[in-house]
Amino acid sequence: MNGNNSRYSNRGSGNFQRSSQTRPRRKKRRLRPWVKIALLVIAALILILIFKKIFGKSGKESSKESTKPVSTVTPTPMQQASNNTPTEAATPTSAVPSGPKYTICVDAGHGFADGGTSSEYLGTGVNEREITLDMAKLLKAELEARGHQVVLTHDGENQPKESEIMQKATELGVSYNASYFTENKVFHAYERTIWANVLNKQYNFDVMISLHVNALDDASVSGYQVYFCSTNDYSAKSEVISKKLVEAMKTDFPGKNVSTYARNNSNAFYVTKYPTMPSLLLEMGFCTNKDDAADMMNDEWRAKYVKTIADGLEQGLA
Ligand SMILES: [Zn+2]
Repeated sequence: MNGNNSRYSNRGSGNFQRSSQTRPRRKKRRLRPWVKIALLVIAALILILIFKKIFGKSGKESSKESTKPVSTVTPTPMQQASNNTPTEAATPTSAVPSGPKYTICVDAGHGFADGGTSSEYLGTGVNEREITLDMAKLLKAELEARGHQVVLTHDGENQPKESEIMQKATELGVSYNASYFTENKVFHAYERTIWANVLNKQYNFDVMISLHVNALDDASVSGYQVYFCSTNDYSAKSEVISKKLVEAMKTDFPGKNVSTYARNNSNAFYVTKYPTMPSLLLEMGFCTNKDDAADMMNDEWRAKYVKTIADGLEQGLA
């Protein structure tokens, strides 16, 4: 951008020198170069200001693009509306509905080196990790089809490194306890939570939902469980969303055991305790129960279940 500015002012002074050399004759015209100088100085100042505005802005954006969590910064409908000139005041009403209704962070529990739980009832090579990732992707597609914006904490392929998470968190003012980070290359619950908080700085999530598969020694135990933290800044909203999700599951899966659990500061899951947004953890069934496991391995059940989750989230956020 500086290159453009200096090129412009060089060209300007070159014109002035030529004209002053070719027209030194008349008295009246001797005054004109001074007018030209003044005009050129004013023009140059205006150009510098314009270039600074244009390149100053795009410079900031491109530096953001080089960093992962802020790669797709887009102005919110409110920002767009406030930037509009008064003559465009009639358009924001049409701009608002085109934006996402809710912005939701979906966390596939476990992943990468952490397979989570498993049981003899799941297929060969299938752990909790494979189920939560597929369900997260299905839920994302379902919510996006309903007009919401969805961001996954991970896609099962690209794992944010601990150093990257901590660096971004520090840059963006996201608080974290470095001693909670692991050294074993597992993108574990605390790291995923801090990563979600980093993403939250960009996306301003309405809710974070972490998907999991349950397990118990008692094979007779089955059903769905929703956990939220009752002792953080977002507990009230987390509770509302959790209860609406439970209602939606009871409606769509009559006869299932469905329950919600409030956990306090000392026993809440990381993904419900530390998010800087309302959050909940959903156990989508017991893999140690034959029927639940069969459901979770069934494509029709998965398709139906993500619709139920989406219903519950929408009702909780409304
Ligand atoms: Zn889990």
